[in-house]
Amino acid sequence: MISVEAALDALFALVRPLGTEEVPLREAAGRVMRADVHAFRDQPPFPGSAMDGYAVIAEEAQPHAMFRVIGESAAGRRFEGQVKPGQAVRIFTGAPVPEGATRVVLQEDVTRTGDIITLTDPLDAGPHIRPAGVDFRQGDTFAAPRLLRPADVALLAAMNQPTVTVSRQPTVALISTGDELVLPGEDPGPDQIVASNTFGLEALFRTLGARPRILPIARDTRASLESAFHLAADADLVVTIGGASVGDHDLVGRVAGELGMEQSFYKVAMRPGKPLMAGRMWADLGGAMMIGLPGNPVSAMVCGHVFAAPVLRAFQGLAREPAPLAHAPLLAPLPANGPRMHYMRARLSPEGLRAFDSQDSSLLSILSEAGALIQRPPHAPAAQAGEILPYLPI
Ligand code: AMP
Ligand code: MG
Repeated sequence: MISVEAALDALFALVRPLGTEEVPLREAAGRVMRADVHAFRDQPPFPGSAMDGYAVIAEEAQPHAMFRVIGESAAGRRFEGQVKPGQAVRIFTGAPVPEGATRVVLQEDVTRTGDIITLTDPLDAGPHIRPAGVDFRQGDTFAAPRLLRPADVALLAAMNQPTVTVSRQPTVALISTGDELVLPGEDPGPDQIVASNTFGLEALFRTLGARPRILPIARDTRASLESAFHLAADADLVVTIGGASVGDHDLVGRVAGELGMEQSFYKVAMRPGKPLMAGRMWADLGGAMMIGLPGNPVSAMVCGHVFAAPVLRAFQGLAREPAPLAHAPLLAPLPANGPRMHYMRARLSPEGLRAFDSQDSSLLSILSEAGALIQRPPHAPAAQAGEILPYLPI
């Protein structure tokens, strides 16, 4: 059995980062940008007004001062002339500040009669002007690699980038294994189970930028598993579910081995999820990376978060690091941990973390209620209420 850290390192060693493609900005959110972007222009391209008001010479903006309004500058339509002493230009948010003007007086600080404005007493400090290039300058770099969030897409648009170079999306073939499994919507017999974590993992992988594909359920026979592996051969990552233990019907490791999988490890010191395997399928199967997840629904999903998520990020060129942990106070004490890393399902509230009483690895109802997996390292001592503990948000 190897540690979670060693298993992750072994997984990262199997990852070959994917190539890139160019996508329109509207398809860029959630993708990993792989080439640096340089701004094509200054933003804003001119000194602009931050408020609605009047543009004047800053030194003249004193309580009770009077100005003659000589024109208007609106967003997209600048005032072409020059502001001279005693003059003001009506200006609106986002409009270019006219030549000569060095501050904007808020419209609330002005009384206007015809073309004449008088400043109030008191007056706010100003200047309410955004200098040219204050957001970014032409040539500024937006560095890759980077998982693009909605705000990043807005920034790229402001930099006048209609397209962006992103990682190709990893294709993932999901193979459920088991004689007992049927698909959701089918009519299960009395001894049958609906394949569930297959769908949970597909949903998870989608949120990670992958293109998952659910293959037909493989039965617990060599022939069925072999044909499933062959269907998966063109994927970047093959993920099997179940059949990974040492029972008579657990054939995944054996069949994958016969098909040339070089096994990198088998069994990780963690709860839930001990029977996890990984390796690379040989060349005649496309050289895909393979991860064999345990079948227990919670184990499979936890391994998805702990292992598959960082692997999918690495495929897309992001740093090879564990899923990021958050921290929160514990609301009820926890006993000392055993020799395996324990990912405890916990309810996450604004006050903190409360582990569920039952941590059975078959209980999807509890996983569904859980917002967090409290990470309890091997041999962690008992934890008291109020202690700050690390957790994986799920
Ligand atoms: P296994 O690892 O094949 O021994 O499976 C362990 C447990 O997980 C058994 O109770 C299986 O019925 C269940 N299981 C396996 N695969 C799935 C799946 N795709 N969806 C839901 N349960 C599963
Ligand atoms: Mg099975």
